Amino acid sequence: MSLLGSSEEECYVCGKELGDDAIEEDGKKFCCEDCKQQYEDEEKSDDKEEICQFC
Ligand SMILES: [Zn+2]
Repeated sequence: MSLLGSSEEECYVCGKELGDDAIEEDGKKFCCEDCKQQYEDEEKSDDKEEICQFC
């Protein structure tokens, strides 16, 4: 069993085991609404950072 790539049953954000409240979004799984929100916030900030800040 590999630790890498075996996160299907863990929260994408905090790594907790997924329980009954697990949420799936964009093919990623989250233990709770807060983690999903955090992921979405990071996705948005990542999108912004993809735009070059120096040109
Ligand atoms: Zn979580």
